[in-house]
Amino acid sequence: MESLDRLREVQRISSKISLYQSEIAKHEKKLEIALADYQLLRDQMAPIEARLGQGQSIARKLELDSKEAEAKIEKNRKQLDQATQATEFTGLKEQLARFEEEKAAIEESLILVMEKIEELRSQELDLNKHIADTEEQLEEIRAEVTENTKDYRNEVESLQKPLEHAREVADDELLETFDRLFPSLGATVVVSLDGNACGGCHLSVSSQVGEKVQAGISVVNCPSCSRFLG
Ligand SMILES: [Zn+2]
Repeated sequence: MESLDRLREVQRISSKISLYQSEIAKHEKKLEIALADYQLLRDQMAPIEARLGQGQSIARKLELDSKEAEAKIEKNRKQLDQATQATEFTGLKEQLARFEEEKAAIEESLILVMEKIEELRSQELDLNKHIADTEEQLEEIRAEVTENTKDYRNEVESLQKPLEHAREVADDELLETFDRLFPSLGATVVVSLDGNACGGCHLSVSSQVGEKVQAGISVVNCPSCSRFLG
């Protein structure tokens, strides 16, 4: 039947296109996986940078505290120089010792914080290098995928016009059914009868349906799966 033959042509070209597209998708999957890994790597940067920012603000605060402690010590020393009475002298001496202890504690914390900052900076550096390397690999994979899918893309491209033409000459109503069935059935929307069974779902059809198909006068769909029988 001519209308079914025209539909078979749509099916033939559509199947080729979807085959090539699935090949393209297979190759692109590799790139997608590499991109996801790359993103995971990039995501590691934010927490390091957040901790660096925190560390730097703590360091600034400690530096201010240290200066403040230093000023208190200086003032205390001057007072000590001018002290004339023994009790005043002892009191100031004790206060000075406390201020110096305070300053030493601040500086100790500052050293620890600076060490942490250094460690984070080194992590940041390593990660940046890793990211740069991964970016390079990613570009290689991208180029490889582009190269490996080039032929398939060209095929798909060259099939567009023939598909357009095949669809133009096909019956609109049949096309509507075809378009509905094709995504799930692929190249088996239009099938032949296999004895008295549908060539797609393999369920037997009634002899009445079989005869109609044989006669080839009207379009017959499988009562079970809706495939075109011809
Ligand atoms: Zn069927």
